[in-house]
Amino acid sequence: MNSKELIQLHDQYIMGTYGRFPIAISHGQGAKLYDFDGKLYIDFASGIGVASVGHGNPAWAQAIADQAVRLGHVSNLYYTEPAARVAETLCERTGMRKVFFSNSGAESNEGLIKLARKYSRDKYGAGRSKVVTLLQSFHGRTVTTLAATGQDVFHQHFFPFTEGFCHVPAGDMAALQAACGDDTCAVMLELIQGEGGVLPLERDYIQQVAAFCKERDLLLLIDEVQTGIGRTGHLFAFQQYGITPDAVSFAKGIAGGVPFGGFLAGEMCCDVLGPGTHATTYGGNPLGAAAAQVVLETLTEEMLAEVAEKGRYIQENIAAMGSPYVAEIRGLGLMIGVVLKDVGHKEVVGRLNDAGLLALTAGSETLRFLPPLTISYEEIDAGLAILQSVIV
Ligand SMILES: *Cc1c(COP(=O)(O)O)cnc(C)c1O
Repeated sequence: MNSKELIQLHDQYIMGTYGRFPIAISHGQGAKLYDFDGKLYIDFASGIGVASVGHGNPAWAQAIADQAVRLGHVSNLYYTEPAARVAETLCERTGMRKVFFSNSGAESNEGLIKLARKYSRDKYGAGRSKVVTLLQSFHGRTVTTLAATGQDVFHQHFFPFTEGFCHVPAGDMAALQAACGDDTCAVMLELIQGEGGVLPLERDYIQQVAAFCKERDLLLLIDEVQTGIGRTGHLFAFQQYGITPDAVSFAKGIAGGVPFGGFLAGEMCCDVLGPGTHATTYGGNPLGAAAAQVVLETLTEEMLAEVAEKGRYIQENIAAMGSPYVAEIRGLGLMIGVVLKDVGHKEVVGRLNDAGLLALTAGSETLRFLPPLTISYEEIDAGLAILQSVIV
């Protein structure tokens, strides 16, 4: 089957919910992908920050295969080993106390919201259920996480939404304080707003929000679905801001491509969701957990330092190109935003694709790079050469 035939088959039977690029990907190795016609692409997207240990990673593939032979799924009615090991590793490396496993980012954030509402109801009774989030945020596509998402573009078509959310401008402490009344149980935010445009929050602001939450007994919920699992050069981005969140969600990169996610909770709220209060059939599934264990073992402290270093290398090299179309370069580790001017971000991604580089957009004018965390310097240089040929 060639690319054209595959695209036809796809479009005939799969709903057209995605604005896809006309590229049909067959297989990959490291940060290299090949389409059905044999064309090579350098991957600066990693399936939107998911293929964290690269494509066709031998240890990852072997762990999934071995686990599949041993045990694929039995549900959470019973105990299984891979999930327990991943939970132990996550808690030991973050100082958080317990984990709930889910299957996606949106589902993980739903869990954060349920955790906060129940924590508050158990302690203060009904009426304290509002969650304050930020404008330009992205928290998922379920009806509740869309309500949490502070971008109107995602809201059309689906009214009415879950009640109890309000959005305030990032960086504005007074607005956040004004929004948090007696009806509020939590503040939820991304430390670097990914979909919103790779927008990092200020360190001071993050610390002030954390202190304010503590003072008012509001849960500080951090959405690390995109920033987590090594993406910014730390296992979780919060670890570099001197804060201790009450709960943190993760998904995208955790299992390197197997659908997996969850949230970690600290001492104060790790036992709030007791038996029967929250569940998901696939949660902590052995195949996903086996894959996640390989990802976590790959992300040693040394490896995380390399992620930070590679991120600096990419940013410096893009700056050195002196492109007339680049207004700003920002981000942390291998989560990089290149703000464009005088040219559309979608148009640039189309031209990069044609030239053999896969990249993402974010917000309304930003080119976004989320390469595999294991990308080699040779692959980075190949990608940068393509970028230079397009934007200079
Ligand atoms: C991608 C993303 C989500 C949604 O994750 P899904 O797995 O698509 O449900 C939520 N929050 C952030 C910050 C994300 O980047």
